Amino acid sequence: MSCIVQKFGGTSVADIDCIKMAAKRVVAAYNSGNQMVVVVSAMAGVTNNLIELTEQVNGIFDVREYDVILSSGEQTNAGLMALAIQDLGIQARSWLGWQLPIKTDSKYGRARITEIDISQIKKRIENNEVAVVPGFQGLSKENRITTLGRGGSDLTAVAIAGALSADRCEIYTDVDGIYTCDPRIVSKAKKLEKVTYEEILELASQGARVLQARSVELAKNYGVRVEVKSAFTDTPGTQVVSEDEILEKEVVSGISYSSDEAKITLRRVKDQPGVAARIFGPLADASVNVDMIVQNVSEDGKTTDLTFTVTAKDLNHAKEVLSEKKSKIGFDELVSDSNLSKISIVGVGMRSNTGVAKTMFNTLAKKNINIKVISTSEIKISVLIDTEYTELALRALHSAYGLDQ
Ligand code: ASP
Ligand code: MG
Repeated sequence: MSCIVQKFGGTSVADIDCIKMAAKRVVAAYNSGNQMVVVVSAMAGVTNNLIELTEQVNGIFDVREYDVILSSGEQTNAGLMALAIQDLGIQARSWLGWQLPIKTDSKYGRARITEIDISQIKKRIENNEVAVVPGFQGLSKENRITTLGRGGSDLTAVAIAGALSADRCEIYTDVDGIYTCDPRIVSKAKKLEKVTYEEILELASQGARVLQARSVELAKNYGVRVEVKSAFTDTPGTQVVSEDEILEKEVVSGISYSSDEAKITLRRVKDQPGVAARIFGPLADASVNVDMIVQNVSEDGKTTDLTFTVTAKDLNHAKEVLSEKKSKIGFDELVSDSNLSKISIVGVGMRSNTGVAKTMFNTLAKKNINIKVISTSEIKISVLIDTEYTELALRALHSAYGLDQ
């Protein structure tokens, strides 16, 4: 007998019809002889509406009350799901996060799970009942409701699957898997049968937002087998697995992109210890997320240029922070550039193959696309280009790496 955790995202439980359809899926798996735990998100759009409500009352709200309000969307759906399963003739009951409990730290709004008590769930599923748990909820040391950060229902599902040593954790969503590239741009993009935890982290953080990043890290650490599937079809999804499960490692498994990037260059920054800390410290304090960073060689040993990227939405804020600290940091001029896109090629096979970067640069050169910044990690190469060339670059690279069908 296998133990399966099925998690349904907001679009998969967006209304009563969807909830009934999801319940049928749960019951079908149950009838095939599996022990079933169901984790539900709030109905699509509900969490955003709840945030709006809190903001209408008070702009600077008490985060503890914020979590009381935000967690309610999942609570409703957990009850509805339990009823829908009962309606199909199967015993089911729900537990809220605090009832299990799912213990967390006290970072309200984006709490981390510290401990899960699965004893009640275990007893019930061994007794042929279906257990239903709302995603996203926890309980702090102060005995108050916490939420796990946006997209946190994925984290609940993976954490419960890990604690139960479940055979797999199925994540139902509105896409049917992870693709080699965005199929809306590259029509030849194909669905990946398997992808590694590392690859999905690189692909997901850059636009293919299918799984919450923290849930992938947790799945990797606990070896939870995750499968991303569509709630609306019966086609197989994409399995997220560890690297040793993939025998023939693709050099490049997927290509991701993010538009809305911006670049800042600080000219003639002093070439001495402590300067980078004086630049990136205040940006971090201002919650500006810095991505690619390039420091040029100092020609005269005294000053150098430093370039980095932020999201276009953070650009003005970053410029304000740096201009305010100009004399303290010590630079001559700030130059910025927006309307940029980051294109990344990702693949665990890169570790053992040479010439991967060369293909990328040759391909872009042939299309006359200028590269503004380059950065690399063990399994990823990213380039910054003008946004207008995004689609051209994606299609050319997709075919250059043999990903076209
Ligand atoms: N409802 C929460 C959100 O929208 C959690 C989730 O759906 O994963 O972020
Ligand atoms: Mg989600």
